[in-house]
Amino acid sequence: MIEKARKIWLNGEFVEWGEARVHVLTHTLHYGLGVFEGIRAYKTQKGTAVFRLDEHIKRLINSAKIVNLKIPFTYDELMEATLETVRINGLEECYIRPLVYVDYGEIGLYPLNNPVGVAIAAWSWGAYLGEEGLKNGIKAKISSFTRNPVNVAMTKAKVCGSYVNSQLAKMEAIDTGYDEAILLDAEGYVSEGSGECIFLVRNGILKTTPLTSILEGITRNSVMDIAKHLWYKVTEERFSRDELYIADEVFFAGTAAEITPIVNIDGRTIGNGKRGPVTTKIQEAFFDIVRGKVKEFEGWLFYV
Ligand code: PMP
Repeated sequence: MIEKARKIWLNGEFVEWGEARVHVLTHTLHYGLGVFEGIRAYKTQKGTAVFRLDEHIKRLINSAKIVNLKIPFTYDELMEATLETVRINGLEECYIRPLVYVDYGEIGLYPLNNPVGVAIAAWSWGAYLGEEGLKNGIKAKISSFTRNPVNVAMTKAKVCGSYVNSQLAKMEAIDTGYDEAILLDAEGYVSEGSGECIFLVRNGILKTTPLTSILEGITRNSVMDIAKHLWYKVTEERFSRDELYIADEVFFAGTAAEITPIVNIDGRTIGNGKRGPVTTKIQEAFFDIVRGKVKEFEGWLFYV
């Protein structure tokens, strides 16, 4: 259950949490054309900081552009509204959810005569795949559902409706005793998790899916920079599910999931079945960076 905060930013003003409502005939609710973001803010010694806020707002604007929605606010307004949402709710650490939606108006499939609404909510949300998962790793399943192919739902846009695909995969994984799903692309290569990018480690080298057919993950990008900072080699290459089975280490990278080790895939133990040394180093560096302890990466923090 979402842990309620006080206020939600809705179309330019703050409303009480319980008053942030839309009509049941809101267009997006029916057909899924909307775009959103998932952002985290962490507590640092200098106060709360939103991690890579600029990149998230840019991606939100790009997502809207891809699906033809005109956001009635500027980049600067969205940046400030997000910071203000964290501030006004007095949250030290939180998850932030901006949503751009097609509002009430016409109900035919053509959406562009309706107004576009924007909401930004923030609330306390701990580790998405569990504290235990961060430490000891999780079990993942290769999904029987194919990732939305690039010309079906465009993967560079974080579109509401595309997450039906993610939810089908997630339900299948959870209902069969796993923690998370790994989806393959239409050609059978590994793409990403239901809401995370994926990395494998073999012989000390990290490998991740190329960006062609996945969301441009901001945590993925951060991991690549962190890995280079720690002198690891990183490659972006297509790989198949069996390469995951024989990897030394595998982990998910995403805003919600942060850096979560995967220690079992389809019943096969990955490496020695524990969080591996490379994953541990990357994870430690990541949490140090988001909490403002690494000078070189201060530029990623947007103080509230
Ligand atoms: N892939 C998908 C499908 C996602 O929903 C997410 C979460 N936004 C990610 C990857 C990870 O992206 P990020 O690190 O920017 O949160």
